Amino acid sequence: MQSLDNFISGKLAKLEAASLRRTLVDTFREDGIWVTRGGRRLLSFCCNDYLNLSQHDAVKTAAIEATRKYGVGSGASRLVTGNHPLFAELEARLARLKGTEAAIVFGSGYLANTGIIPALIGKDDLILMDELNHACLWGGSRMSRAKIVTFPHADAAMARKLLAKHRASHPHAMIATDGVFSMDGDIAPLRALSDMAKEYDAWFLVDDAHGLGVVGGGRGSAFIENPPVEIPLQMGTLSKAAGGYGAYLCASRPVIDWMHNRARTFVYSTGLPPASAAAAIAALELIETDKALTAKPVQKARAFTKSAGLPEPMTNIVPIMLGEEKRALRASEMLAEEGFLVVAIRPPTVPAGTARLRMTFTAGHPDAEIERLAHLVRSRVLGN
Ligand SMILES: *Cc1c(COP(=O)(O)O)cnc(C)c1O
Repeated sequence: MQSLDNFISGKLAKLEAASLRRTLVDTFREDGIWVTRGGRRLLSFCCNDYLNLSQHDAVKTAAIEATRKYGVGSGASRLVTGNHPLFAELEARLARLKGTEAAIVFGSGYLANTGIIPALIGKDDLILMDELNHACLWGGSRMSRAKIVTFPHADAAMARKLLAKHRASHPHAMIATDGVFSMDGDIAPLRALSDMAKEYDAWFLVDDAHGLGVVGGGRGSAFIENPPVEIPLQMGTLSKAAGGYGAYLCASRPVIDWMHNRARTFVYSTGLPPASAAAAIAALELIETDKALTAKPVQKARAFTKSAGLPEPMTNIVPIMLGEEKRALRASEMLAEEGFLVVAIRPPTVPAGTARLRMTFTAGHPDAEIERLAHLVRSRVLGN
């Protein structure tokens, strides 16, 4: 189809001209932190494998054994024949970790949010969203056809004003936020949002993809404070600190039973491979029992910011705001020459004019290399 290719080629050329075109680069991850790209070995500061569990022996063994015993695929939707007993074990573990009655595992985080939200919220309803929410919260919200109202990032006072203004015109309302913001590394004002959700009868959904295994003693961002913040809809992924693939919602029994019936990305999508369920069970065992391990990523990030002369981060995700796309790309190239993989994050992943380096710290990063990176960032990126 000539018109198709011509149209798309023109659009790609525009991205190229704006330094916004993305391409795939073959990358081999050896051990969770060192990667090989284009024949070069680089220390990666951009994986979400925060506890290096994707390469952990116990986790790999669990996945291999499950594959040997049960095969590589689950064969069907879990409602047909794909409901391997490993899922019940994984869901019981997740519910226990998050302190809820029940849990449901989805194929991925993106599938979870695009299934959960439209299953609960419809076109006459209201969704209040942080403006920096992850793309899949936006995807799910748009699919619900509800009225979407956004509040400025992490601004609980504005969220309250907007909720007060709009709540009465809708039968049901939801407040949705990331727990830990993936590109900024800060934490949502969960307590304030939870309180207003209760006051205005809005259903509170938190996507804690980056909180599990890293904050709140590994239990996630709701558990940083004592008592924990009450969150009736606790969503997260098994693809970041848990090191594998899949995602979950922890909630009350009726909500989970409803998901089995009405979350389209659950009902009409094949269950996760047994290996992924087995790997997640092994990873959660480590997350629940090894408190020294789950504390490490934030400790490493704080060692970095201290040496680089940056403010202390709330999590293990540290953005370095550079503004222009070209500046972020140049900084990333300079660091690659020095042996570090730090990807430049550009729009549309982040708002226009906020291109940045995003560094993620994992339990296994060597301290001496963190020091060397901090020195380079200080002298050659920030120019101090
Ligand atoms: C990564 C991420 C997701 C998507 O999870 P996948 O399992 O990778 O699909 C959802 N929400 C947030 C906040 C994320 O960072």
